[in-house]
Amino acid sequence: MKIIIIGGGASGLACAIKAKDNTNEVTILEKNARCGKKLLLTGNGRCNYFNEDFDVNYYHAKKKELLGDIITEKNKAEVLTFLDDIGLVPKIQKGYYYPRSNQAVSVLESLLNAAISCGVVIKTDVAVLNIRYEDKFYVETSDGVYEADKVVIATGSKAYPKTGSNGDGYNLVKPFHHLINPLPALTPLFTNLPYLRDWAGVRLDAKASLYVGNNLLQEESGEVQLTDNGISGIPIFNLSSVAIRELTNKKDVKVILNFLPFIDDAKTYLDERSDKLPYLNISSFFDSLINYKLSNIILKKNKISYDSFYATLTPSKKNSLIDDLTSFEVPITGYADFNTAQVCSGGVSLDEINILTMESLKQKDLYIIGEMLDVDGVCGGYNLGFVWLSAILAAKSIRGYHD
Ligand SMILES: Cc1cc2nc3c(=O)[nH]c(=O)nc-3n(C[C@H](O)[C@H](O)[C@H](O)COP(=O)(O)OP(=O)(O)OC[C@H]3O[C@@H](n4cnc5c(N)ncnc54)[C@H](O)[C@@H]3O)c2cc1C
Repeated sequence: MKIIIIGGGASGLACAIKAKDNTNEVTILEKNARCGKKLLLTGNGRCNYFNEDFDVNYYHAKKKELLGDIITEKNKAEVLTFLDDIGLVPKIQKGYYYPRSNQAVSVLESLLNAAISCGVVIKTDVAVLNIRYEDKFYVETSDGVYEADKVVIATGSKAYPKTGSNGDGYNLVKPFHHLINPLPALTPLFTNLPYLRDWAGVRLDAKASLYVGNNLLQEESGEVQLTDNGISGIPIFNLSSVAIRELTNKKDVKVILNFLPFIDDAKTYLDERSDKLPYLNISSFFDSLINYKLSNIILKKNKISYDSFYATLTPSKKNSLIDDLTSFEVPITGYADFNTAQVCSGGVSLDEINILTMESLKQKDLYIIGEMLDVDGVCGGYNLGFVWLSAILAAKSIRGYHD
């Protein structure tokens, strides 16, 4: 049986290794001069390749309920066995898996060595242009037409196009599938607030709550970065998938930032601080509590002069100040595009494939894996977690067995 895997990224390589056996001829067609370009960038060059807390709640998908059928303890064990089998030695930090070498290149090398050693053929500099099916597949490429009994589309998404995943895969599946509009995810959000130049460069621990209209949709905590066009950092990346889809649907999207997430009752805390430090003017009063750039913005916004004292503010000024410290409203007006986005939301909907095997429900013997599918996860190794899982499920089905 001839199997063509389109794309030599994380999912294509993993699927090839698991699909290869003595009776299968497995060929990866990769348009770049080498495989796994994106993998090398992951986790800031360290590759956070899995998360111990492999749970459906860390994912977004229009048909998310289907993910529950495959994100299971049993499949988690199978993914970890695969990663161990290819020789990856994990370093697990707060549940995040990295290679012990701390180098993404070792993940790529482990995949490549395993693929080559089991006889997978890797053809680089071959761009797939079209897929036709007439009793078998005809895969039209920059290097002529390849015939195949089964085809796996592992072309990634549109995110970070300079790595090769530039949306080609969407054109390849179009004859067979509908697409959920691919949008950037894990990317900064933009705002039109007037303070951008003043707050640029501030990093601080905050709780970020995503609202659409008055509905709270998601909350994330961690280091938020205030930038010259909006807000960034892992908590914001994690909100971006939902925020961008809602924004695209012309909804009113905002992020509320709590700059004092470590304080339960800000009013009592500030009153006590003021009693303890009555000699501090309001500017110094906020020193060491929050970044001075931010306190200056909040004081200016509330028309409070820097030399006034917290204790002498009117109750309504105090309330308004506390509101800005704990519920600072950031209207979301845009987002960083695919060139910056780490992943993509949208793609082929999960209800158009057999979720247990990744085989297309529209075209027999066509498989779709990895980021081509409408699944995106939050930061923490979840995206690669799904990549390995989808690759393994497809490979098992190709080899003719699955649970
Ligand atoms: C900067 C950055 C950091 C990230 N960090 C993490 C992290 O730490 N942890 C995590 O879990 N996830 C991370 N991700 C996300 C993760 O890298 C992706 O989810 C994952 O690589 C997707 O795998 P894939 O195989 O579906 O696609 P890709 O890895 O994008 O591979 C697709 C391959 O297909 C090839 N291709 C495309 N079109 C064609 C064609 N027409 N013909 C032939 N070949 C083609 C491409 O060249 C590419 O090599 C990060 C992403 C980025 C951009």
